[in-house]
Amino acid sequence: MRYIDPHIHMNVRTTADYEAMAAAGIVAVIEPAFWLGQPRTSAGSYVDYLSTLVGWERFRAAQFGLRHYCAIGLNSKEANNPPLAEAVIDLLPRYALKEGVVAIGEIGYDEQTAAEDKYLRIQLDLARDLEMLVMVHTPHRDKKRGTSRTMDVCIEHGLNPARVVIDHNNEETVEEVLDRGFWAGFTIYPKTKMGSERMVEIVCRYGSDRIIVDSSADWGVSDPLAVPKTAQLMRDRGIAEADVVRVTYANALAAYAQSGQMHEDDWLNPPAIDQRTLFEGNSVLRGQQPQVDGLVIE
Ligand SMILES: [Zn+2]
Repeated sequence: MRYIDPHIHMNVRTTADYEAMAAAGIVAVIEPAFWLGQPRTSAGSYVDYLSTLVGWERFRAAQFGLRHYCAIGLNSKEANNPPLAEAVIDLLPRYALKEGVVAIGEIGYDEQTAAEDKYLRIQLDLARDLEMLVMVHTPHRDKKRGTSRTMDVCIEHGLNPARVVIDHNNEETVEEVLDRGFWAGFTIYPKTKMGSERMVEIVCRYGSDRIIVDSSADWGVSDPLAVPKTAQLMRDRGIAEADVVRVTYANALAAYAQSGQMHEDDWLNPPAIDQRTLFEGNSVLRGQQPQVDGLVIE
């Protein structure tokens, strides 16, 4: 079984996570740009972060046999710091067209402030002008209204719903998102919010069309194996294998392959793992023996 985790913040996860994810069948991840847990104080911090997403992290994932893609954007929390936001907006075009960037994201509302609205709209225009997909973060508070509002704004700015993934859905939002033609992402949280059990119920009720499961694992309480674990629970509960495959693999591929940056062949015929490889002179090894596909290193 192959899985895609189309929303996960790998740069704050460990190499043990990468090994466990590969062992569980995860073949590809998408890492949307995000905040740090505390506010960035300068745009330079963003330069290094976005460079990491398109550079080092992509390399690091490959060292453990996973394909890494990312989404580039200014997150909603940091939209509330206008001097920073202005500087970051100017940076985005430089990164948005790099190899492996599948969308503008994750963007959207947090507290639904005027500043968040302004920078969401600017980034939707950027996505439209660059003909890019959008990955939307929906607010955890006042979710239903915030989700409806986000879709209204996407439509207002000329985005095609088939090219927008609305993430962090729940039972209150899923119907409207699907009815309006958007992709509906669900983040599986280990203890609160959406859990695997609730996800099973949603697939039983709404089917598998345009529904996507992800972990959004980051520096907080989260589980980088949420996608394969939820898939297993679905099988245990009698959901058809074709539906399990759609929500944990095929729909994410269909949505993000529209970018032209993500192809199934990337992991069906991957480059051999060679941990002797360096990225700008650095390796993941810390002096340990490298793993190299098809070779025993003495
Ligand atoms: Zn996220």
